[in-house]
Amino acid sequence: MKSYKKELYFNTPMRRQFINITPQVEQCLSESDIKEGLCLVNAMHITASVFINDDESGLHQDFETWLEKLAPEKPYSQYHHNSAEDNGDAHLKRTIMGREVVVAVTDGRLDFGPWEQIFYGEFDGRRKKRVLVKIIGE
Ligand code: ZN
Repeated sequence: MKSYKKELYFNTPMRRQFINITPQVEQCLSESDIKEGLCLVNAMHITASVFINDDESGLHQDFETWLEKLAPEKPYSQYHHNSAEDNGDAHLKRTIMGREVVVAVTDGRLDFGPWEQIFYGEFDGRRKKRVLVKIIGE
């Protein structure tokens, strides 16, 4: 069995941002030379997510609105977590949007359903953060 690992780095200019990282993951798969297997992609931080959905700007605005209803950023004082930090909302948003995705690798390609794309979801940005890509197979 072959194994491949790579870390991707992000430093978003905004506190919250969604980035389509499908091209980077496809590049990893190409470098791995794995044709059949599994591809794991996970955020290495507890205030960021990796998730799969549609690359449609209206939907991304809907995610932002929905997440702000569930866990508003402000007032910061509403979260017990916010004493030394101000990112209580980001931890909650990350939990809802998920830590990782696993995509099947078939015939050397990411085996997506219709319109599926992989996103990095940042909820406490403006600093350098990592995403792990691990691919196993043959
Ligand atoms: Zn925190």
